[in-house]
Amino acid sequence: MNANPRSIAVLGGGISGLTCALRLVQAGHRVVLIEASEQLGGLGTFFEHEGRTFEKFYHCMLPSDEPLLKVLETLGIRDEVYWKPTTFAYAHQGRIFPLNSAFDLLKFAPLRIIDRIRVGITGLYGRLISDKGLDNVTTVKWLTRLSGARAFAKFWQPMLEAKFGDRYHDVPALWFWTRFNREKGESKGECKGYIKGGYKHITDTFARVLRVLGCEIRLNTAVQAVDLDAEGRATVTTAAGSESFDQLVITLPPPQVEQLIGPAMRREMPQLDTTTDYQGVINCLLFLKKPLTPHYWVATPGNEHPFDGVVETSTLTDTADRGRRHVVYLTKYLHRSDERFSASDACISACWVPALQKLFPQLQDSDIESVRVFRSPFVEPIYKLGQLQLRPPEELVRGKVYLASTAQVYPVVTSWNGSVIQAGLTLASMGIGSSVRSQGESTTIGSRTAALKLTKPHDRVQALRPAAAKV
Ligand SMILES: Cc1cc2nc3c(=O)[nH]c(=O)nc-3n(C[C@H](O)[C@H](O)[C@H](O)COP(=O)(O)OP(=O)(O)OC[C@H]3O[C@@H](n4cnc5c(N)ncnc54)[C@H](O)[C@@H]3O)c2cc1C
Repeated sequence: MNANPRSIAVLGGGISGLTCALRLVQAGHRVVLIEASEQLGGLGTFFEHEGRTFEKFYHCMLPSDEPLLKVLETLGIRDEVYWKPTTFAYAHQGRIFPLNSAFDLLKFAPLRIIDRIRVGITGLYGRLISDKGLDNVTTVKWLTRLSGARAFAKFWQPMLEAKFGDRYHDVPALWFWTRFNREKGESKGECKGYIKGGYKHITDTFARVLRVLGCEIRLNTAVQAVDLDAEGRATVTTAAGSESFDQLVITLPPPQVEQLIGPAMRREMPQLDTTTDYQGVINCLLFLKKPLTPHYWVATPGNEHPFDGVVETSTLTDTADRGRRHVVYLTKYLHRSDERFSASDACISACWVPALQKLFPQLQDSDIESVRVFRSPFVEPIYKLGQLQLRPPEELVRGKVYLASTAQVYPVVTSWNGSVIQAGLTLASMGIGSSVRSQGESTTIGSRTAALKLTKPHDRVQALRPAAAKV
């Protein structure tokens, strides 16, 4: 029982909002979760296909996602996560090269032998060195120094372009280092996790637990403005009118938050970084009657293909979760201003599906059960040198308005796990953390409060190191 419960609105029902709402309601506060769409889950939302649900954007977990797994433990569904070894391959000039071991790399024909060795050394070195100083070195410079200009141009640059388009030049090496260590940090080879019933099962469980604990969930309720009222209380305006709360937690990306801030609130808050833009994404999902590849991920970077990756999630998911069909996502990161972003679904599939058939000539039209296209405009911040200094603060208006967004997750990889870690930091800035331990729950999030006492961004990264080193 909280002797001093506060009324708190959490804006956005993705993993950040769900995690914040859970911790706040566990701490005894009166919480209202406000979500614009008809579903919870944010980028992890789903759609129905023949009686089953599938993520609009491919999603999986990694064994190093311990903070997220702890939340699933709190929800009582951690045991429903299953794990499988997965593999990665690289498509080049119509050939698919598996790239999962030093031996694979030695056979990787697109690179000269000396470049293969340098790429391998880059990987080893990346795992051994610390992240110190890497926020102020570009990935381009760091990788070129380690792998050489030729290997960079042929191997790394297309991978960076696949994520950031032509804005990869400024991305700090710290981003690459963290990502590399998250994905390759497992000693027993690559292994990924999925949950029985899909990500919908996670959001459904969140919703059930939140409601049981007294949280009010409002779907189909777009926030139109956030401000401070005449008494200085935080207000949220939706189509239903304005409502004041003791505190707000905003979980939308800052470019969207910027559109909502009213004048009284703006006067009370620091200037937010408006220079960090976001990449969007298009996913084209194919339900197939036959498997396409044995690999979870086939990178298709460069200009050879209209998409940058072929993600066959059915190499990971059980038939109970997908039926007998096979599920392949074609993925392309691009900016929302790119004309392809607003191309029709028919136009995307008319271009991408034949390109996939060119790469996999055995794929016949009759093998394709159906095709769906999904897009999202704000997915990955386009990081710049010194990004740690640009990171928005957790507290926007002292004691009243807080932020837990993907813009703060850096240098941890943008992921459900990264958002759970960030939610922990934001909650800690509200004084929620160590006091919010539910039965049987470990201290993972609560212990992050220590990170808050550290004011310098680099110190904060160091505080996250036990997780970040593996994430
Ligand atoms: C293609 C793709 C693949 C990915 N793969 C993985 C993966 O394998 N594993 C992994 O862990 N992560 C993955 N991610 C990343 C992960 O989905 C995100 O990092 C995470 O979902 C971000 O969560 P969030 O709650 O911060 O933001 P979001 O999920 O974006 O949630 C924000 C919420 O706010 C709502 N909202 C927006 N505006 C308003 C408004 N005005 N009023 C009210 N509500 C509003 C939105 O509808 C949304 O529900 C992937 C993402 C993509 C796009």
